[in-house]
Amino acid sequence: MKTGSSPEESSGLSALPSVDAVLKTEAARGFASRCGNDYAAEYARDVLNELRDELKSGVRSDRGREQLLSDAENLFARAARSERRRGMRRLINATGVIVHTNLGRAPLSESSIEAIVNSAGYSPVEYDLETGQRGRRGERAERLAAELTGAEDALVVNNCAAAAVLVLTSLSEGGEAIISRGELVEIGGDFRVPDVMKRSGAELVEVGTTNRTKLKDYENAVTESTKLIVKVHPSNYRIVGFTSVPGVRDLAELAHDKGLLLFEDAGSGAIGDLSRFGLGDEPVIRESVEAGADVVTFSGDKLLGSVQSGFIVGKREVIGRIRSHPLYRAFRPGKLTYAALEPVLESFLRGAELEEVPVLRMLSTTRDDLEKRTADFISAVREKLGRDHGASVEAGESDSVVGGGSAPAVHPKGPVVRLRHLKRTPNEIESGLRNSDPAVISRIEDDVVILDLRTVPERDEADLASAVISALY
Ligand SMILES: *Cc1c(COP(=O)(O)O)cnc(C)c1O
Repeated sequence: MKTGSSPEESSGLSALPSVDAVLKTEAARGFASRCGNDYAAEYARDVLNELRDELKSGVRSDRGREQLLSDAENLFARAARSERRRGMRRLINATGVIVHTNLGRAPLSESSIEAIVNSAGYSPVEYDLETGQRGRRGERAERLAAELTGAEDALVVNNCAAAAVLVLTSLSEGGEAIISRGELVEIGGDFRVPDVMKRSGAELVEVGTTNRTKLKDYENAVTESTKLIVKVHPSNYRIVGFTSVPGVRDLAELAHDKGLLLFEDAGSGAIGDLSRFGLGDEPVIRESVEAGADVVTFSGDKLLGSVQSGFIVGKREVIGRIRSHPLYRAFRPGKLTYAALEPVLESFLRGAELEEVPVLRMLSTTRDDLEKRTADFISAVREKLGRDHGASVEAGESDSVVGGGSAPAVHPKGPVVRLRHLKRTPNEIESGLRNSDPAVISRIEDDVVILDLRTVPERDEADLASAVISALY
C-alpha cells in the first residue's frame, strides 16, 4: 500500500461512478425507457455494489474512472438482458416433447390466436347480446364442451387441478371419498392427489393395494358418510405387470347402487381415441361419460391442445351444484380463456382437429413426413455450414414423448437431427442454441445434441437453421 493514500484511494473506490452516472449510460437509458427510472436505479446500485466488492477484495484493480463506468455499463446491460430473458418470449421447442409443461404446454391454433386478439378489448364475457341483460360466463364454451363429450353440462375453470379441488370440495366436503391406493399419485411435481383430497375437507378412504384394487374393496369401504368414489388417471405414472382396477362402468354401477357419485379425474383430456398414435391408455372423455361417471375432469392444455384451463363435465344436476359452490368464483377463468377455447372445441366438433390443432397435428405427423423434413433441414444446414468446420449434422433416431403427464410409456421412435462438434461439448452446443434469439430448446441424448422437428412448426425452420449454424460455427 502506498503511504499517504487512504484505503479508499488505493483500492480505486473513489473512482467508482455515481448511480446518476450509470443511469446516463446508453444501456441504462434504454432500460429506463421501458421499465422506468426507479427500477433502473435499483439495477445501477446493484452493479455498483458488485464493482465495489470486487475493488475491495482486490479481484479488480483500479483502472480509472472511465474504465469503471464502462465496466458498469456492461454489467448493467448484462443484468438487463438476463432479466428480459426470464420474461415471456417466443421460443422454438426442438425437444420433440409435444405437451411440454415447462414450455407452455400446447401451442395455440391459428383460430384461437385470432380469437384471443379479437376478445382482448371489451367482450361479452358475462353479457347476453340478444337480451341486453347479464349473461352467464363461459356459456358458449361450456355448451360446446358438453356437446363434444356427450355430457349434459360442463364447467370451465382455470386448470385441471382447480377442477379437481372444486369437484372434491363441492361433492365430498364433510364426508368420505373412496380412492384406490394405486391412484394416490403425484402429478407434475406439485399436485399430489392425497394432499388435494385432504384440503378439500373430505375424509380420504384408501382401498386396495398399489397394484391391485377390486370392486369388492370399494364396496366394503362404503359407510353412512361416504359421498364419492374417486378414480384418478395416473397420467405420468404406470404400474406395469400384475395390476388391475375396476373400470368406470363397474365403479359407476356400484356408486349408483349405493346412492353415491363417481368422479373421474381423467387428466389429459383425450377427446377421441388416440390409440393409433400410441396413446391407447388415455381415457376418452366421452367414454367415461357414457360409462356412467357423474363428473369427469380434464385439462384444456394437454391433449385438447388449447390454453391453460380445466374442464368439469357431467350430469346437469351435479355440474349445477359445482357451479354454485362459492369456491367457483375463485377458480373461474378470464375472457381470453373462453375466447381461445371456443374455436378449438369447434375444430374437434367438425372433426378437423388433426389439421387445425397443433398438438394433434404434431401427434399425427407421419414418419415419412418427419423423415423428409428432417433430411431437407439437414441438407439446408450443411450447405450453409460449408466444409472443414468440425461440425457434424446427421440424421438419427430418437424417442419422441408426448409429455405433460400423458402416456409416459409411449416413446415412438422418430427421425431426429444429431448435432456434434469436434471442439465443442454437447453442453456448449445446447447452451449456444438456448441463448440464441429466438431461443432453441434441444435435448442431449448419449452425449449428442438432438433436435426433433416434430415440435417445430415449418415456419420456424429458417430460424432454427440460423441458430444451429451459429451454435456450430
Ligand atoms: C395434468 C393432470 C392434472 C393437473 O392438471 P392441470 O391442468 O395442470 O392443473 C390433474 N389430474 C390429472 C390426472 C392430470 O393428468
